[in-house]
Amino acid sequence: MTMILDEVKTVNIEDYLAMTDEELDKRIEAARKKLGSRVVILGHHYQRDDVIEHADLTGDSYQLSVMASQTDAEFIVFCGVHFMAESANILGKPDQKVILPDLGAGCSMADMANIEQVEDAWEQLTEIGVVGENSKVAPMTYMNSTAAIKAFCGRNGGVVCTSSNAVPLFDKYLKEYDKMFFFPDQHLGRNTGLKFGIPLDKMALWNPHEELGGNTEEELREARLILWKGHCSVHGRFKPWHVDQVRKQTPDIQVLVHPECMYEVVEKADLNGSTSFIIKTVENAPDGSKWAIGTEVNLVNRLQERFPDKEVRLLAPDLCMCATMYRIAPQNLAWALDNLVAGVVVNEITVDEETKKWALIALDRMIEFTEKG
Ligand code: SF4
Repeated sequence: MTMILDEVKTVNIEDYLAMTDEELDKRIEAARKKLGSRVVILGHHYQRDDVIEHADLTGDSYQLSVMASQTDAEFIVFCGVHFMAESANILGKPDQKVILPDLGAGCSMADMANIEQVEDAWEQLTEIGVVGENSKVAPMTYMNSTAAIKAFCGRNGGVVCTSSNAVPLFDKYLKEYDKMFFFPDQHLGRNTGLKFGIPLDKMALWNPHEELGGNTEEELREARLILWKGHCSVHGRFKPWHVDQVRKQTPDIQVLVHPECMYEVVEKADLNGSTSFIIKTVENAPDGSKWAIGTEVNLVNRLQERFPDKEVRLLAPDLCMCATMYRIAPQNLAWALDNLVAGVVVNEITVDEETKKWALIALDRMIEFTEKG
């Protein structure tokens, strides 16, 4: 299949499906060359190798959005998932266009909390007086959530957090508020709450499909932390028995996991922390050290390749891949870039102005606090 780029006005994804890897690589690089500094390609740490090799910048979702907004690129091609592209649109410059090469690249965790459910939960809590004059509740959302939920937090005095700054932000908001309502990852919320000595019986789990989230009024009044019942389908696959098994096989191995893992796993691990923490820990570890890592497989594989003198392995024997992020393949990237060359912006992700305004307030509270700290 041969297409001459300059002759193309718009290009169809179907034309790319039969191309060889080599052909796709060539097309991606040719399009990048033509677009020059007009485009920046972002690759999330969990992205597949054949896509990440084309990225100008790699990082976690928050780092990437900030880095992209600091460039003058007209087009930000985000090889990640939908909420990340939304964040790039919120944090980016007004004239920057954000492109998600496959609109099917969502996040199962972000999809577990929609704005109608969150507003309904807040209303129910207000009706029973758990939110109100005499009970100050801070809504806090993990970066891995929709723009609408970030905006909800902005409107209601709350904030956004990442897995890197969840601990200091919990510290601040737990001191200033009677309770926190944390969306959408119950595990990050629970693991962070436990670091502040909040007992499990003071953490209520809010199931959006049940009245009062499946709790009694009393339980909600007593709770210090209300956790939305969401989780990451990738990190949720690590189980406590994986830790037992790996320790049995290799007694001197260290277990390092992401706090999106369930707390029974985090409890058994030696260390837990954000993606950046995981990378830094392995980078700084002595040669010969052994690590079993509980996070997305592409990141673990790359750590393995970067540090052949350290033993790095995935905590689980089976594949723990972010299947939605994997949807962004070289075909999608080549297609999106060739369309830009042809003057067509495909799969643009935009957040409406009102949502953007409030989401930015919640993000700015985080940024201001993190920078001060
Ligand atoms: S790894 Fe989990 S939280 Fe991250 S994008 Fe994939 S599904 Fe969402």
